[in-house]
Amino acid sequence: MSDLTGKVAMITGGARGQGEAEARLFAERGAKVVIADVLDDVAADLAAEIGEDRALAVHLDVSDRDQWQQALQAGVARFGHVDVLVNNAGIYFHGELGDTSLERYRKLIEVNQVGVFLGMQTVAPQMADLGRGSIVNIVSISSFAPLDLTSAYASTKSALLGLSKAAVGELGPKGIRVNMIHPGGVATDMGAPAGVVPTEYDNAPLGRIGQPREIATVAAFLASDDASYCTGSEILVDGGWTVGSRNPWTVGS
Ligand code: NAD
Repeated sequence: MSDLTGKVAMITGGARGQGEAEARLFAERGAKVVIADVLDDVAADLAAEIGEDRALAVHLDVSDRDQWQQALQAGVARFGHVDVLVNNAGIYFHGELGDTSLERYRKLIEVNQVGVFLGMQTVAPQMADLGRGSIVNIVSISSFAPLDLTSAYASTKSALLGLSKAAVGELGPKGIRVNMIHPGGVATDMGAPAGVVPTEYDNAPLGRIGQPREIATVAAFLASDDASYCTGSEILVDGGWTVGSRNPWTVGS
């Protein structure tokens, strides 16, 4: 079990879903957490539940450069430093190319792609001053094995591969590790809207959708000193989905 005692983690999109699971788990394992989200009330309730000595809710729209500076300053003011950044916030859309407006596409780019760029750009200098840091970018299996009808979403996630990998070489000499997690389907508002889990997961090797905590445990590992020699890593957490489906002729036999 990865220990996070002494770490201060900023988690974007930390109010619900995978980000919420990361905030809860990181705090359980000894970290202080900065829950950064546009859902102010939800984030504030979560921080209060975790405990004000261990959690701080800050307003952050990840696509806004000034808000990044304010969120970082708030975290440092409360907990002294930020040495873990989980770029988790994201939005999803599926639809045919012809039904994907340019406005929609640009919005996905702003949140999923520019948001991660700004996050690394804002927090890395502070980590460099500390001489240490761990950045965990929540990408997706969509970055390399996109489902149909996800051109806009998948392309923003593919961009994170280049963004993350380029940062590895730049930030490594400063003591900052940059790693990626590729979730498959996860039971959140995004992966199972209104709690409805698509039956397609039955045919994945593990035969089920993932739970937010199953992503959080991997994020905790990458955030921790247990992963001290990991940078540029891509960890698949998809229940085997992208390796292969179960044989449709033999399932159930
Ligand atoms: P979710 O919709 O439950 O949570 C997303 C969180 O991001 C919410 O708290 C939301 O308020 C926040 N957010 C949205 N826009 C924001 C913005 N502009 N600034 C700050 N916060 C913002 O979804 P989730 O499943 O928890 O998604 C977490 C990450 O995992 C996303 O990056 C998503 O693309 C990725 N992912 C999800 C799945 C899945 O099946 N759920 C699969 C692969 C990857």
